[in-house]
Amino acid sequence: MDKIKIYDLEVFANHGVFPEENVLGQKFVISLQMDVDTKMAGKTDCLDKSVNYGEVSRFVSDFMQRNTYKLLEAAAENLAQALLLEYPLVYGVNLEIKKPWAPVKFPLKTVSVEIYRRWHKAYVALGANMGNEKAFLDRAVSSLDGLKTCRVKKVADYIVTKPYGGVEQDDFLNSALELDTLLAPEELLMCLHEIEAEAGRQRTIHWGPRTLDLDILLYDDMVMDEPDLTIPHREMHLRDFVLRPMAQIAPYQIHPICKKTIKQLLAELTSD
Ligand code: ADP
Ligand code: MG
Repeated sequence: MDKIKIYDLEVFANHGVFPEENVLGQKFVISLQMDVDTKMAGKTDCLDKSVNYGEVSRFVSDFMQRNTYKLLEAAAENLAQALLLEYPLVYGVNLEIKKPWAPVKFPLKTVSVEIYRRWHKAYVALGANMGNEKAFLDRAVSSLDGLKTCRVKKVADYIVTKPYGGVEQDDFLNSALELDTLLAPEELLMCLHEIEAEAGRQRTIHWGPRTLDLDILLYDDMVMDEPDLTIPHREMHLRDFVLRPMAQIAPYQIHPICKKTIKQLLAELTSD
């Protein structure tokens, strides 16, 4: 992976737990390694195909001076997010903030916090079968795209499907979308729940009618099983109404447990 690096940028700023630190200020020393595909800039010798490290240095310096955090952790977290939002060519950033004059009474050289943050790829299933289904799906797509930490990249065609799970109800409208996100899976799930709630979703009958259902299908190649969140979605490989839209936007995406592509999973399901 190509990287553009800045080492030991010095900024005088006001972060710290003690009120004196917020008033008097002190020196912070910042290093960053940005994941950037430099191939096009290398081939064309054009700065606009790359990330200008002079501009990034100014951005970092301004950010550190304009904001005040108690913790280096918070300064690093917010700065990493601001960088990823500001520079679309940067898809990951390793950031270290050193505080050489930290007020601890020991003769240390420096203290620092180092983090790595990047964009993640997620796939979300959409379903609705009450009211104006198309309007609910449209609104869900634009709500997600409206979050500053999410960018909707692809949306599958909406398809009409028969209800699943044995409850007598109307047909569903289903789709799937691809998302670039800075949110962790749990944070993404919370946002999906909020968007469902805005659509008037009430969690009553399991597998029953709903204005809007948003499920996380895949998140990078992550495998997790927590009480509130299972990734990949537990049933995705068994559901025609999930695999069909997914096959349109991500046919060669690998299911990290089945180790098969979406296209293969759909072919297997429909041949049964
Ligand atoms: P379903 O989607 O199965 O029809 P709900 O939308 O009511 O039913 O979801 C029930 C719970 O499933 C959610 O509150 C959530 O905590 C949990 N859940 C587990 N894994 C996932 C996932 N991958 N995506 C969305 N919800 C999930
Ligand atoms: Mg759900």
